[in-house]
Amino acid sequence: MTARRAQNLIERLPPVRGRLTAEAPLAPVTWFRVGGPAEVLFRPADAEDLAEFLAKRPAEVPVTVIGVASNLLVRDDGVEGVVVRLGRGFAAIEISGARVTAGAGVLDLNVAIAARAAGVGLEFLSGIPGTIGGALRMNAGAYGREIKDVLESAVALDNAGVRHALSLAEMGLGYRHCGVPEDWIFVGATLRGQAADRDAIQRRMAEIQSEREASQPIRARTGGSTFANPPGHKAWELIDAAGCRGLARGGAMVSEKHTNFLINTGPATAADIEGLGEEVRRRVFEKSGVRLEWEIRRIGRPAPGLKEAAP
Ligand SMILES: Cc1cc2nc3c(=O)[nH]c(=O)nc-3n(C[C@H](O)[C@H](O)[C@H](O)COP(=O)(O)OP(=O)(O)OC[C@H]3O[C@@H](n4cnc5c(N)ncnc54)[C@H](O)[C@@H]3O)c2cc1C
Repeated sequence: MTARRAQNLIERLPPVRGRLTAEAPLAPVTWFRVGGPAEVLFRPADAEDLAEFLAKRPAEVPVTVIGVASNLLVRDDGVEGVVVRLGRGFAAIEISGARVTAGAGVLDLNVAIAARAAGVGLEFLSGIPGTIGGALRMNAGAYGREIKDVLESAVALDNAGVRHALSLAEMGLGYRHCGVPEDWIFVGATLRGQAADRDAIQRRMAEIQSEREASQPIRARTGGSTFANPPGHKAWELIDAAGCRGLARGGAMVSEKHTNFLINTGPATAADIEGLGEEVRRRVFEKSGVRLEWEIRRIGRPAPGLKEAAP
């Protein structure tokens, strides 16, 4: 990827009200703090700006949306085409009764805080460090609840910019899975919380915060749960049993605190992190015969020489 190529790409893109940036570094906006640049980063002004852009951009230009990259590994060579990051134009929160409508760029935590102020409980969201868009795509969940349990409807744009209002059933949500086409971009959602006493909500949110502090490396450079729990197993137990606690490669390490979290100890590259993840998969398969599947989404061109542990 070169600066000139990125600049040429910008010149082929339709005019927008938001911001287009060539060769935009992505590492600083990811939880892992690794990875190369976006060939072009697009921060749409609002949903209409994004829809028009999707309708008019050259069809062959790949478009990838990211939230706050709390479940995402950006590979070292960066991401070709346009990376979309939703900002202020997707940050509205409206509450009516127990119904909370939020833009896809809002942090789950901020939805939980706004809901609390209105006496609406959506406490589990306070434990998930992503955006509403990321939560819809991942069917994020914690403490026995997931998005599927509170979602009424969502709004998405397809790859031609056409707006779709989706019911809960149309979302096809399952364990860390969403049935909506991968190239659709969520722009908002309506959730239904439970009317509750504000102090009780606050106490539950504080409990969630301290449970997370105790069990997860939430202050580290990490990507959340690395692998999905295979049916009938907990990924962290399989990883522990395979002797991977504290295993390191370059600047990447399996967390001592929670073995399903990989950590950038400082100097890691995305290749270190992905290579370590593949090594963990290999050791777990050797020990238990179970194939772990990545929960972390990986974007960009794979590093040359990356050995996948299993198909
Ligand atoms: C310390 C830590 C703790 C975590 N704990 C939990 C937990 O308890 N439960 C849990 O479920 N997750 C947890 N996670 C993982 C992560 O926070 C969730 O998966 C979150 O929903 C990801 O949101 P994001 O905005 O960061 O999305 P990203 O990581 O940026 O993206 C994840 C995926 O969502 C897609 N995406 C993002 N925005 C949109 C959009 N607007 N439209 C369509 N697709 C989109 C991306 O393309 C990508 O495929 C944790 C992560 C960390 C770092």
